Amino acid sequence: AYVICEPCIGVKDAACVDVCPVDCIYEAEDQYVIHPDECIDCGACEPVCPVQAIFFKDDVPEEWHDFIEKNRRLASEI
Ligand code: SF4
Repeated sequence: AYVICEPCIGVKDAACVDVCPVDCIYEAEDQYVIHPDECIDCGACEPVCPVQAIFFKDDVPEEWHDFIEKNRRLASEI
């Protein structure tokens, strides 16, 4: 699954939402989040993010590893 990280906070551009073919990107309070069980790993969202907030799970930078769990938790609550 892909993961939306810290740069989205306070930006919430939402360009990713428009390109996701399975509508698995949800608006949380401070950022958008991807539901990991619904994401089909198509990669369409990654290049359209204007702040480079989106990474494939295995490529999430060390300092943003908390966002893997945050995306799962918040997307599951919506
Ligand atoms: Fe949606 Fe594809 Fe991005 Fe997953 S990788 S969130 S399916 S656009």
